[in-house]
Amino acid sequence: MKVRPSASGQGVIEEILPRTSVLYRSDAARQKLIAANVTQLVIVVAAVPSFSEEMVNHCIAAAEQQKLKVLLVCNKADLIEPSRHAFSTLALYRELGYPVLQLSAKNDSVPLLPHLHGHLSILIGQSGMGKSTLVNALVPAAERATADISVALDTGRHTTTHAKLYYLDDDSGLIDSPGMQEFGLYHLNVEELAWGFIEFRPYIGQCRFNNCRHGCEPGCALTQAMREGKISGRRVTFYQKLLQAGTAGSPP
Ligand code: GDP
Ligand code: ZN
Repeated sequence: MKVRPSASGQGVIEEILPRTSVLYRSDAARQKLIAANVTQLVIVVAAVPSFSEEMVNHCIAAAEQQKLKVLLVCNKADLIEPSRHAFSTLALYRELGYPVLQLSAKNDSVPLLPHLHGHLSILIGQSGMGKSTLVNALVPAAERATADISVALDTGRHTTTHAKLYYLDDDSGLIDSPGMQEFGLYHLNVEELAWGFIEFRPYIGQCRFNNCRHGCEPGCALTQAMREGKISGRRVTFYQKLLQAGTAGSPP
């Protein structure tokens, strides 16, 4: 959907664009579409309060499934000592090819701008990570430049979330979805979740059993790759946690 903000602070729908991606929020009870046609997921973490690495993995897997670019923002760089620790935790993700941008939203959020150019990005992160600070810094006239995003429930009913779309320029938009901490992965099966872990891909389909859940099964190619140090045990642990949380499996 192409929306032009109008003077009154509302938006005018100019064009319905074909959907290239869809993001869902879901829990055991329901799935809810959050935004369509997003091209980039910006995961905001910070040194303080400590962030959940499980949530980071969850979001990356959801992004990979939708073929979205992932950007990790490590906020509160001004808190030097704690940031060092957070940044080193993120080294694993840098090695996997996900860019990690360290900044201080409080002092200077400008380094984020080039990463947002040409994208419709969605900001995600646990509360307290600095998302609002970031949005306010990037979009000084936030209140006037926003448009509520209408989203469709998978039931076909229409509703409005509190998500806001901010225009940065003609080619770039930023969606802030307060309160949203992770995307639902209920629509992913075991293999699709594994696909969301990019370094697992060469091993998918290589296990002895074709219904392998990559746990204690004999002949598991993934476990073998982990033993050989080809993939990180931390990532396998997070994959298992997501599986066990019932995140992947049959849709509710
Ligand atoms: P949100 O819940 O993700 O929207 O986080 P907020 O933007 O409300 O920020 C949470 C807290 O972190 C607030 O007290 C902010 O002032 C603080 N904060 C945000 N950015 C920074 C930063 O770059 N450095 C420091 N030291 N604090 C920050
Ligand atoms: Zn396996």
